[in-house]
Amino acid sequence: MPPLREVIARHGLTASKALGQNFLFDGQLLARIAAVPGDLAGAEVLEVGPGPGGLTRALLGAGARVTAIERDRRCIPALAELADHYPGMLTLIEGDALAIDAPSLFAGSPHIVSNLPYNVGTALLVGWLTGPWPPWWRSLTLMFQKEVADRIVSGVDDDAYGRLAVLAQWRSTARIAMPVHRSAFTPPPKVMSAVVHILPTDAPAGVAMAVLERITAAAFGQRRKMLRQSLKGVPGALAALEVVGIDPMRRAETVSVAEFVDLAREVDRG
Ligand code: SAM
Repeated sequence: MPPLREVIARHGLTASKALGQNFLFDGQLLARIAAVPGDLAGAEVLEVGPGPGGLTRALLGAGARVTAIERDRRCIPALAELADHYPGMLTLIEGDALAIDAPSLFAGSPHIVSNLPYNVGTALLVGWLTGPWPPWWRSLTLMFQKEVADRIVSGVDDDAYGRLAVLAQWRSTARIAMPVHRSAFTPPPKVMSAVVHILPTDAPAGVAMAVLERITAAAFGQRRKMLRQSLKGVPGALAALEVVGIDPMRRAETVSVAEFVDLAREVDRG
């Protein structure tokens, strides 16, 4: 394959700010990202936002069968060259990943591996974490700006701990697989990034996602307030605090994911 920079120059793929385009060219770094989900030989992978195809190359190089959704039609001819190079291994879909029914594209359960713009990545992540369980995907390997990555993996008492952490951890494990320096991107963004790896686990029994969502929204909506104040508007929550043994004088940021799960189960039961 020709070097990525040459592909970009030949197809006139100047990075678009509106599409959040910051490209990765370092083959070693891309191979390390593609290795995060484990052995991909013969595995199905969904990649959202392949751009000129750096990460796509690494995934194909690892033996994955890749379905890639890209919104920028300028990138499609460059990606088509890659598809020609790996016959039958790369399916290209031009469109907005937020509007596409991705599960219908797969017979099995794909790994999702993506380097996405910040706002699209968070919206997709929330969608993937709040769907039916077990999820249609096998694992998530996603690049985020460091601050968002910290919010996803943070624990109780961390500054970054909040709704996103509870959402990501109540029925998954979430960890930072590697930090990525801003200088690795072309053009470099203002902030540092990190690759987050998420694996689904069994969902705790008796807990409805909607109830957990309502509780965490109320609790973290007023994160500096005591729970007896912030949870006032959630029917049954104050009584449930007592049943599960959470002091109503505590604040949301001191309540662990496991405690939120217990609370949601009790609210649901009551
Ligand atoms: N994966 C490439 C890389 O690592 O060099 C490109 C990364 S760039 C940060 C994000 C890519 O996502 C761009 O190619 C952009 O056009 C694409 N993109 C942005 N919004 C999208 C959306 N809603 N659906 C699909 N692709 C999108």
